[in-house]
Amino acid sequence: MKETVSFQVSVGRQPPSQWQEIASAALRPYGPKEIERSPYGKAMSFEFDYYPEGLETVVAHLKGQQIHALFTVRQEYTAADRRQAELLILGGGRIVSSVEGTLRWEDVSICPFCACRTADWQFEPLQIAEQPQGAVLACVDHWPWVVSAEVAQALRQAEVTGLVLVPVGPDRSVQWYGLRVTHRLPPVAVPPTRLPPNPGPTPQCAPDHLWNGLKHSQLAYRRQDLAAADFNVTYEHFGGMETAIRYEVISQRVYGLLREVGVQRLRCDPIRIVD
Ligand SMILES: [Zn+2]
Repeated sequence: MKETVSFQVSVGRQPPSQWQEIASAALRPYGPKEIERSPYGKAMSFEFDYYPEGLETVVAHLKGQQIHALFTVRQEYTAADRRQAELLILGGGRIVSSVEGTLRWEDVSICPFCACRTADWQFEPLQIAEQPQGAVLACVDHWPWVVSAEVAQALRQAEVTGLVLVPVGPDRSVQWYGLRVTHRLPPVAVPPTRLPPNPGPTPQCAPDHLWNGLKHSQLAYRRQDLAAADFNVTYEHFGGMETAIRYEVISQRVYGLLREVGVQRLRCDPIRIVD
């Protein structure tokens, strides 16, 4: 895995004096590989070929001096990284559309203290506008996962664990199956600063129940608490207060199986397991 970080700094119309020197002094100790200045002199970017711990404090320090700062993290994986990973986040596949009004869900509150909610998808009334050709993994309207009957058959034969395949639609001949994942992983073991917390939760909330997203980190788990099934969901929810989701995490066995049956456009990012 290759991880790169781009730290962007910019100033408004009346920039503080010597802002470029202030930003450079704050970031130079972390050893940027490259420093770029915008041709208009209002922005700079510092490129790193590793993840420097503690960038959040630099963001806060610069903000205190009227310098805007944010950083983005990119993880790149090779095909070999993906083939060697014990666990991966389920991603990619196709996007299919529901017939209007048939993608329904029940709002489920995930915490007694805040308004954080997730969706319990109802596959029974769902109608998908197209029939699958062959082995397909897809998200319906960008939300719940479904697979074609061919993939469902392969998963059933392999007796994968942690999964219930729910027939989609009221029809007699089922073409799609919804994925209802039943096994939950323990909390992640990522350095907490690497997951940006969602500002919504209250002080009474469990500190780790909602995160903004995975933008700053690869998911990591300690092996001793892991006990993963073939299909898993994260303990944490990610996203906004009203649309929090859990990520689905699959075993290498499932990843291999999906590739073997010919599922296209898979994009599953490896999970790090720490001993
Ligand atoms: Zn809460």
